[in-house]
Amino acid sequence: MKKEYDVIIVGGGPAGMTAAIYAKRAALDTLIIEKQPFCGGQVLNTYEVDNYPGLPGIDGFSLSEKFHGHARNLEAEFYTGEMIELCEEGKKKVVVLSNGERIYAKGVILALGSVHRKAMVPGEEELKGKGVSYCATCDGAFFRDQTTAVIGGGDVALEDAIFLARGCKKVYLIHRRDELRGAKILQNKLLSLDNVEVLWDTVIEKIEGDQFVTGVSLQNVKTGEKSELSLDGVFVAIGTVPDTKALKGTLDLDENGYIVAGEDGITSMPGVFCGGDCRTKKLRQIVTSAADGANCVFSLEQYLMKL
Ligand code: NAP
Repeated sequence: MKKEYDVIIVGGGPAGMTAAIYAKRAALDTLIIEKQPFCGGQVLNTYEVDNYPGLPGIDGFSLSEKFHGHARNLEAEFYTGEMIELCEEGKKKVVVLSNGERIYAKGVILALGSVHRKAMVPGEEELKGKGVSYCATCDGAFFRDQTTAVIGGGDVALEDAIFLARGCKKVYLIHRRDELRGAKILQNKLLSLDNVEVLWDTVIEKIEGDQFVTGVSLQNVKTGEKSELSLDGVFVAIGTVPDTKALKGTLDLDENGYIVAGEDGITSMPGVFCGGDCRTKKLRQIVTSAADGANCVFSLEQYLMKL
C-alpha cells in the first residue's frame, strides 16, 4: 500500500465496489479500505438476492464475489483496516486507521454501510452467540430440527424466517405490528409455510436462558397480555443503523447517524462523498447502493477538475 492515492473508498459493499469500478475506469489511483477480511458487506449474509437486475436468485456471496472480481480485474487496490478518523491536511484528505496508519488522498468516498440494530432487551447481550444471532444464513444450520424465532417484519426478517423454516422444526416470526413491512412476494411465501407461525402485535421483553437461550418473554402490545415461549434460538432482524461513529463532528449527520448527502453523494466536507446504506435516502437496496457508488465517482471527478 502506498501513502497517497487519488481516491480512497472506505467500505467494500456494493456502493464501495461500484465506486471502485467507476474510479478505475476513470483512471484514478484507487484504494478500497474494508474492515472485514471479505468484501461484500451485508450482502455476504444474504441467502438469495432476487431483485438485482439480470441475476435472479443469485446468492449474496456469489454476487459480492462478482462485484469484487470486477474491481480486482480493473486493478483496484484493497486493504483490510478500520477507519477511526477522517481529517484534512491542506487540500488533502487523511484517512486514519485503527492501527495508526495515515493514508492520504485527493478525495474520499464513504461507503460505510450499516450494522445490525440491537433489540435492547435483557438477555440479548449475555446470550449473543449462545442462541442469539443477527445472521440466519451464518448460524441457521446450528438450529436444525429445533425451534427458533425471528424478530422483525422487514425484508431481512422475512428472508431469515423463510431460510430457517427449511431446516428448523418450527419458526416463529415475532412482529410488533399487525402488518409486515417486507416485500409482498416474501410475505406470501412466508405465510404459505406450514412450520412458520406469525405472532402479531408482539414484542419481546426478555430473552431467557442461562448458558444458552431457552425462550423469550413476550407481551401483546394491543391486549397487554404477557406470555412465555420456549425456543432454542432467537434471530434479531429489526433493521440496521449506520456505522458512522468515526465521523461524528466531522461531517453533517442526521439525527439517526446517516451522512447527509443527496443522490450526487456530496457531503458537507468538500472532496468527501458518500453512498450506499450510510447515506440519507429512502430506498436502501443493493441496486441503489451500486447507483450511489457510480454517482459518487461522477461527483468526485467534477471536484478534482476544479482542484
Ligand atoms: P427494515 O426494512 O427497516 O425493517 C425492520 C423491521 O424491524 C420492521 O418491520 C420494524 O417494524 C422492525 N423493528 C424495528 N425496530 C424494532 C424494535 N426495536 N423492536 C421490534 N421490531 C423492530 O430493515 P431490514 O429488514 O433489515 O431491511 C433493511 C433494508 O434493506 C430495507 O430497506 C430493505 O428493503 C433492504 N433489503 C432488501 C432486500 C431485497 O431487496 N432483497 C433484502 C434485505 C433487505 P415496523 O415495520 O413496525 O417499523
